[in-house]
Amino acid sequence: MSRIYPTCMMLLLLFTVTAIGYDDGDRPGYRDTPIIPGQKWRVHDSQRPWPTVVDPGAGSLPVPPPADAVVLLGKGDLSAWTSGGKDARWANVDGAMEARPGSGNITTRESFGDIQLHVEFRTPPEVKGSSQGRGNSGVFLMNRYELQILDSYQNPTYSDGQCAAFYGQWPPLVNSCRGPGQWQSYDIFFIAPRFGDDGSLLSPARATVVHNGVLVHNDREFLGPTSHRSKPSYSKHPEMAPISLQDHGNPIRYRNIWLRHLDEGEEKDSQ
Ligand code: MG
Repeated sequence: MSRIYPTCMMLLLLFTVTAIGYDDGDRPGYRDTPIIPGQKWRVHDSQRPWPTVVDPGAGSLPVPPPADAVVLLGKGDLSAWTSGGKDARWANVDGAMEARPGSGNITTRESFGDIQLHVEFRTPPEVKGSSQGRGNSGVFLMNRYELQILDSYQNPTYSDGQCAAFYGQWPPLVNSCRGPGQWQSYDIFFIAPRFGDDGSLLSPARATVVHNGVLVHNDREFLGPTSHRSKPSYSKHPEMAPISLQDHGNPIRYRNIWLRHLDEGEEKDSQ
């Protein structure tokens, strides 16, 4: 009894703190998280405005890779991806790659720096769960900077965690999601951060993002690696790093992922 009592009290305290922190009313999110540096909102702030919904139209997918692209996912060929150094544990379904819940994130075998990245994805046609539990995945640039994937079609959640958010930092400019089961696209123009030899930050990571043909981030800075409920901050990491895709327990599908290396160096003649 004497051991059980403190354990019960701790669980009760944990439940109470969590219940106070999470706003699960009409506006899911938190009220007890740190203020995001340079902003007036808290991380995952339940009161942060929801971006305007913009119907992106029908679009035209898939977008074929340009000649100089590195193809990371063709017709269900998972060979560019790994689960902890072994073959990726996600599934090849109908020529697409599907997150297998519980199998963990997958990561590219290669590392990248500044890139143009095209990703096509589809949240499950059958709607299950709500808020962050509905169609959640994410594209982690350099394994650290998450561009959120979520079924944000008529699915309220905190705005810095909705689809196309820089998770926990910036909501998209507008919500240009398609509905469950429809193919969508990201075109991401990503510039890696630069660090000095002493580890100081010379320039932050930044990205321009187009979601289903609609601009949702315009040369926006990441405030550091993205995280849940905590304040972002930078620490030095390699110039190149893999891309990873998140297993958040939902069977998201991906197809037609390709990138181009961005080289803003010296101009050269080309024949
Ligand atoms: Mg996610």
